[in-house]
Amino acid sequence: MRRELTDLPRPVDVHVFEQTSGTAMNGGGLTLAPNGMRVLSRLGLEEQLAGQAGEELAEFAFCRPDGSPIVSFNTRARERYGHPAVGFRRFRLRQALLAAAQAGGGVTVHTGQRLASLDCGSLGGADGPPRPAVLSFEGGGSFSADLVVGCDGLRSVVRTAVRGADEPPPRYTGFEEVVAITRDRCADLVPPGRVNILVGPGERQFGCYGVGPDCMWFASQRRPASPDSWGTLQTEEEREAARREVLTEFKGWSLVERLVQREVSVMIRVGIFDREPVEAWSRGCVVLAGDAASPIPPNLGQGGNKALEDAGVLVGALKRCNGDLPQALALYQRLRIPRAADILNNTRAGGTISNLENPVAVWARDMVLKLFVTLNGGLPLGWLWSYDTERAVREARM
Ligand SMILES: Cc1cc2nc3c(=O)[nH]c(=O)nc-3n(C[C@H](O)[C@H](O)[C@H](O)COP(=O)(O)OP(=O)(O)OC[C@H]3O[C@@H](n4cnc5c(N)ncnc54)[C@H](O)[C@@H]3O)c2cc1C
Repeated sequence: MRRELTDLPRPVDVHVFEQTSGTAMNGGGLTLAPNGMRVLSRLGLEEQLAGQAGEELAEFAFCRPDGSPIVSFNTRARERYGHPAVGFRRFRLRQALLAAAQAGGGVTVHTGQRLASLDCGSLGGADGPPRPAVLSFEGGGSFSADLVVGCDGLRSVVRTAVRGADEPPPRYTGFEEVVAITRDRCADLVPPGRVNILVGPGERQFGCYGVGPDCMWFASQRRPASPDSWGTLQTEEEREAARREVLTEFKGWSLVERLVQREVSVMIRVGIFDREPVEAWSRGCVVLAGDAASPIPPNLGQGGNKALEDAGVLVGALKRCNGDLPQALALYQRLRIPRAADILNNTRAGGTISNLENPVAVWARDMVLKLFVTLNGGLPLGWLWSYDTERAVREARM
């Protein structure tokens, strides 16, 4: 994105601060949909990512507990939206983005730097004279910046500085996911290029798809409480206990029973959290993006896509406003806050529909799904997948 900002009146120097080393080959997987891939294509990364780092996922199948499709369809994403949906291991996506940032020049990545606190500074006007934001890191060290973009996730330190320490914490949705990466691609159970979502009666859901050379599965289950960290299960005993839990919860779901027995290289337990939408994402010289601004549960696989949209719109707003920060941040929030709320509301509705308990309601859901897809050739995803950050900024009234 740094390249996109070269036309601004003042040269832009971008610094990224990350608490980890950024190189760990850990974590699960995720899908990026056409709306997220469109942002990456503007960085010239789409084909490399789709072809080398991930697996293009053209077919979606909603399946019964035994794995037989209720309905399956080709999304025709490239044809309809100009970009594919792609499954990734998270670390491969991170590596590709890191390499692209470093190759482009003008971006300095500081790893092993954990932000401890932040003074939001001022853009001038009613807050007094302009003053840069100041970031303070654990172990000493500070940095001042004219603009800080807080994309430090669910438990964002930047958000606390923007929204205040008395804001309620993220809300636990009542669901936990066990996510695993299998040691081989398991193509006999999970066909290449296809996302399988298994829905049955009850508050549980299972999904699996290819993420390049590996296969990922996830099992979503209701739990009274769960940690919000991505807890990688370190020992074989922990992984075996999680596997047994999944097999008990999904007893009789034959695809689950076969896939979950396969050897895994990574298994993670993560609670699912969100937040109610808020009316402002910025304070002084600081603005929020990604999960720090609006965490989205994974039911529609959109949190990461939304984070990419945030980034695309922020860059577009800075360009359109010729680097005028108050104007650009106002435009960014005007475009992004309602869009994030729409994605959250649809995600919550999707969760409710897939977790129906009553057998009659389950039967009706499956029938409606089948009928809808048969008549329309897919799900109503246009509003989500066709979102174009450049167009949104260009068409916004100032
Ligand atoms: C089970 C599950 C499945 C999902 N599947 C999908 C999917 O298929 N598709 C999709 O689009 N989305 C998916 N999501 C959502 C997606 O993972 C998030 O929305 C996305 O990762 C948000 O990106 P982010 O950069 O805002 O935050 P994060 O990915 O949380 O990144 C935050 C970064 O900030 C760093 N950081 C945090 N605090 C500090 C600090 N104090 N100082 C310095 N660095 C710090 C962290 O180390 C991390 O690198 C899923 C989520 C879950 C829980």
